Amino acid sequence: MSWNWRCILRLRDLVSRFLISDVNNGWTTSFWFDNWNPLGPLVKVFGRDGTRRLRIHLNASVADACNEHAWGMQIQTSCCICSTQPETRDHLMLSCPYTEVLWSESRRRFRDTVPVFTNWPDLVLWTSSSSNAAPSNLRMMVVQALFYNIWKQRNNMLHNQALVPPYGNIPGD
Ligand SMILES: [Zn+2]
Repeated sequence: MSWNWRCILRLRDLVSRFLISDVNNGWTTSFWFDNWNPLGPLVKVFGRDGTRRLRIHLNASVADACNEHAWGMQIQTSCCICSTQPETRDHLMLSCPYTEVLWSESRRRFRDTVPVFTNWPDLVLWTSSSSNAAPSNLRMMVVQALFYNIWKQRNNMLHNQALVPPYGNIPGD
């Protein structure tokens, strides 16, 4: 992963924690110069070079930095795994490219045809339905295992900037 991207992931976490604990000061606290996070003033951590590489203006407040990168609390943050889409439940659990690989691998292992889910109600309906080859409790178990893994990888990406490739997540045939 690139230097910028690793930094942004780390900073995004810091910024969102700060904004959750101290929303009002987000508008007056200097992103680069104030001591608002555990690393201390960020200009000392990243240097003048870092301020340019991260493309956050020297005069930016924490809230500005957050808006510039759509890191906000009201604003949807982007998906921790693919970073190309807003992180919604449906994106993360159904349509993220990473998730799609897990789904297609799981789908192959069912003796029944499993539809490609594009929305939550379809998934819920399928999970609560039953067939001889794919009883409801089996469907439920698979969905739970998938969600558990996706969430674990999402957090792994958020906190450690590491991701287990989707194939490494599925036991062999
Ligand atoms: Zn994604």
